[in-house]
Amino acid sequence: MADGAAAVELAMDKVRKKQRTDPVGPRLDEMVALLRGWLDEHPSPSAHDAAEVEALVRRLEAAASPDAKAEAHEHHKELSALVGKLGKAIDKAAPPRLDLALPGLAFPPRLMDEAIFSHLLSVGLFDVAETLRQEARLESVGGRPCAQLASQLRELHAACAAMGARDARPAIEWTARHAARLAAGGAALRFMLHRLQFVECLAAGDSRGALEYLRSQLAEATAREAAAAEPLDDPRAQLRRLAGAIAFAGRLRASPYAELVAPARWAHARERLAADGMRMLGLCRTPPLLELVDAGAIALPRLHKLATVLQTKYEAAVASRHLPIEVDLGPRFQHHSVFCCPVSREVSSAGNLPSLLPCGHVISAESLAKLARGSRNLRFKCPYCPSESTLGAALALTL
Ligand SMILES: [Zn+2]
Repeated sequence: MADGAAAVELAMDKVRKKQRTDPVGPRLDEMVALLRGWLDEHPSPSAHDAAEVEALVRRLEAAASPDAKAEAHEHHKELSALVGKLGKAIDKAAPPRLDLALPGLAFPPRLMDEAIFSHLLSVGLFDVAETLRQEARLESVGGRPCAQLASQLRELHAACAAMGARDARPAIEWTARHAARLAAGGAALRFMLHRLQFVECLAAGDSRGALEYLRSQLAEATAREAAAAEPLDDPRAQLRRLAGAIAFAGRLRASPYAELVAPARWAHARERLAADGMRMLGLCRTPPLLELVDAGAIALPRLHKLATVLQTKYEAAVASRHLPIEVDLGPRFQHHSVFCCPVSREVSSAGNLPSLLPCGHVISAESLAKLARGSRNLRFKCPYCPSESTLGAALALTL
């Protein structure tokens, strides 16, 4: 914005300077002075003779010569260009009217409250979320009681926060408590956490404690889990390696086992815990509002530009809940494959799924229905190969 204001100021200065060098004013002054001088010399106009008037006309014509006219014309052209630039600088500096990009779009306040509440919970701002819940009188979010969601996320956040302080115990307890709901029983995650806790013990020089931990927590029961953590490694070999590291208790950094104390292992396990936990709770790993704002920051400027160009056509398109162009948000926002029907060129949706024909070609359900003319048994030729098919033989695909 400050840059925009400076650009406006600069453009304004250029216009002012140009105005000061306007050649028309001095020319007019010159002509007025000529007329005044002539009148002074000829106080009684009735006495003028034709020759004197003729001489005056010639002097006036000289003042308005073609060169002088061309100079005035050139000046006005340049001034007009500078004024145009000033207008553009003002347009650029003014905040964009984002409502143009979203005409008539109203967010239901309830939905907004729920989205903000979920966001606050997922970033760990529990007190703020609770205040919002009370003030907005929220009872549930997406059919889930607010109190239940808050306590589940509070538990997960506490485990993640402890990981930040290099304490994996709350996370291990959390994984054990939710084993039934975690993918593969959370085995891989639990092994990672136990290993971190074991290494922490070793790094502190407690070889006796580490050995005890290895026997009680990491032995037989977790050997199977080791296979899941790093499937290419032999779980027994992993345990042997951890046992070997005990000989270097307190000096792991300068040992062949230095990679065990790499700080990235904590960060990696913490990220894994958060991702698995959010997935288990059926929530997005990235806070939902952040995701929405990031997507909006990419899409809105393009939509705004389009809205200013298309105007009423844009409004009509948005009113029918279709954007006039496809906005590519980039791979970060691509959560599933997109299928575009090769016949109709339409992107598939829940109401128009891709359909697999027996020959292996895929077209949209709507294109399929048109080819089969609504009949389940009518035979038709695949649009891409000579094979024949029927509507009943096609399989709907879910993306
Ligand atoms: Zn085919």
